[in-house]
Amino acid sequence: MRDSDWTRILGWPGYRVWRSEIDEPAKRLKLWVRRKRGNRALICSGCGRRIHEIAAVYEREVRDLPCFEYRTTVVIELYRVKCLSCGLKAEKVPQLPSKAPFSKRFEDAVGQACENAAARRVARQFGLAESTVRGIDLRYLERWAASRRQPALRQIGVDEIHLGKKQRFLTVVSNLDTGEPLWFGRERKKETLDEFFQTELSPGQRMRVTAACVDMWEPYRLSIEQHAPNCRIVYDKFHVLQHANRAVDEVRRAEFFRKGGRMRGLVKGKRWLLLTRWVNLSGPKRQELNTLFSMNRRLLKAYLLKESLERLWFYRYEGAMLRYLQKWIDQLRWQRLRPFEKLARMLLDHLDGILNYCRTKVPLGVVEAVNGNIKALLRRGRGYKNLRYLLLKARRLSATRTQFLVLQKAA
Ligand SMILES: [Zn+2]
Repeated sequence: MRDSDWTRILGWPGYRVWRSEIDEPAKRLKLWVRRKRGNRALICSGCGRRIHEIAAVYEREVRDLPCFEYRTTVVIELYRVKCLSCGLKAEKVPQLPSKAPFSKRFEDAVGQACENAAARRVARQFGLAESTVRGIDLRYLERWAASRRQPALRQIGVDEIHLGKKQRFLTVVSNLDTGEPLWFGRERKKETLDEFFQTELSPGQRMRVTAACVDMWEPYRLSIEQHAPNCRIVYDKFHVLQHANRAVDEVRRAEFFRKGGRMRGLVKGKRWLLLTRWVNLSGPKRQELNTLFSMNRRLLKAYLLKESLERLWFYRYEGAMLRYLQKWIDQLRWQRLRPFEKLARMLLDHLDGILNYCRTKVPLGVVEAVNGNIKALLRRGRGYKNLRYLLLKARRLSATRTQFLVLQKAA
């Protein structure tokens, strides 16, 4: 085949193939390319300015997309340039996004594969080391993030994710309008969230944040009040119901320990059932719960309390919401359900932020969806030691999926 045909097949804009080599037994193809005659504009990789002075010529080998069954390598002729502000630098070539030995479209292919499969599987598919795949994926995501317009930030979600005993907590800040995670911080202290406001937002941007969906967690409230004076704090349904779930679980455990013998066996392993909403349970599962409830009234009461608390967010008027909450708390009397009494006190202490839901329209379910995406990622792939990688991965996942999740919940 002629070099000009290879040039067309390869399709690198501005470059032509001047030599090719086919290794048939090894199924390898190697192409040597250099600039086309008209392509003489050199760009400094340091500052992006146009350069005229060439210092040296050298070659780099990168892996490109395969050609049919042939693994393809491209040897590219490059210039080292003399930049007035950066000194000696490599020229910038769009097909070579990094120092790694891969072409941009090869990295894009690996990055796209990583969207639907674990790094280990992608590594096998492309014949690469797993760590190499992660590196490529990270660069792919960085390029994607850099190419996007930063949407305005008016409403934020602040959530915590429990990572485990050793790493403990991760604070997640998300944009409620776009449903994307914006920032991760270690721990869940006031200083953690302070760092977000100080490093990620300008004073003007901080002033423009009007609402925050957060957990009833003092350090977060204090940080928001200090840095975003125009921001209304809304204790949203997702977080409040998390506390309600915890209360149900505490009742379950107390019953488990209090009762002996047969009852203990019955309560055991029912955690998931008790924490699942009734509407999401199948017939047999409901039956299972009903059997449990007929044996234990306290669990039934706890479950009903949790289920009915959700109705609080049906109301759009403060008065109605408050009346419903009062009625809900009245039901606790004489029940001796300690965890729920604790929850009721917590709700009363944070009443203003709960009622704020009526005063400020915030989208429900976004924080929950972001949280779910991150947890799914953590479950699927071990080793997100690199928080930046986890963040970009979650952001990408949200950009393609949150919309769907939120719509699904609404339906
Ligand atoms: Zn430069």
